[in-house]
Amino acid sequence: MSVLDVKDLSIYYYIGRGAVRAAEGVSFKLEKGEAMGLAGESGCGKTTVALSLLNILPANGRIVNGEIFVNGTNIVDIDESQMRKDIRWKVISMVFQGAMNALNPLYKVGDQIVEAIRLHEPDVFKREAKERTAKLLEMVGIEPGRADNYPHEFSGGMKQRALIAMALANNPDLVIADEPGTALDVIVQAQVLRLMKELKERLDLSMIMISHDLSLIAEICQKISIMYAGHLVEYGDIVKIFKEPLHPYTVDLIESFPSIKAEKQEMVSIPGSPPDLLNPPSGCRFNPRCKYAMDVCRKDQPQLAEASKNHFAACHLIKS
Ligand code: SF4
Repeated sequence: MSVLDVKDLSIYYYIGRGAVRAAEGVSFKLEKGEAMGLAGESGCGKTTVALSLLNILPANGRIVNGEIFVNGTNIVDIDESQMRKDIRWKVISMVFQGAMNALNPLYKVGDQIVEAIRLHEPDVFKREAKERTAKLLEMVGIEPGRADNYPHEFSGGMKQRALIAMALANNPDLVIADEPGTALDVIVQAQVLRLMKELKERLDLSMIMISHDLSLIAEICQKISIMYAGHLVEYGDIVKIFKEPLHPYTVDLIESFPSIKAEKQEMVSIPGSPPDLLNPPSGCRFNPRCKYAMDVCRKDQPQLAEASKNHFAACHLIKS
């Protein structure tokens, strides 16, 4: 049984002018101990999909279609109290974007982790929660005595580590890390990534890493999902996709990142900008920016098809 099996998931945000179709028809699977990167430009729906897995979409966000199976249970229809009791933080947890702002500046770091433990496991006594917090801090490389510090006494890297400790507080099966390298310098970023990789292997965690930075994803993940304008356009084995990307957007995305191994070359940017999801283009949403666009691309939305084993892409070129 997969830890996570997302089927045909669609999420809309309702605003005064209509429905923003933030994610449509998204499907992917994650097995135990597997890590998947979720990549794409800002606004492509990566974070929306992640928030839906914890049922913490903003108030105007709705899952309008699809199923999310977590260890075999469809969590789309379960009520908030069951979600809080059985799933959130216990089975799926999240390292939120922006370590600088994700901790409450008014509370000691250790107390925030103790609170996270007891909120989801009310039977745990405060003393036990404190002992677990000390072990969690040690596990992420923070001296346990620093539990009594306030967030402003931590460096950026320490705050990110504390958030990772908090995400692990209730022994989840799956951790979602939303842009874990944001606002960290490259050296600290590398340390945090190394830590996440070690923890993933040591605890046999499943992981979803959301990032627009493909090099971060390549460090940890075995699978990748590429999203464009709310659609999943390519998905599968990361080595295959990096070596032989099939969707023109994935090709452009990979080419827009520098490679330290390749010859020095001018950086390529993707022309145009992502569409307005209140009124997205018909057919393939990438068609206004795609140099291979054909008539069929402007009419029919391509479906995700298995081009080779563990490699799926949604593009009319693949069938023709
Ligand atoms: Fe380009 Fe058409 Fe493929 Fe979309 S379906 S990526 S427009 S070729």
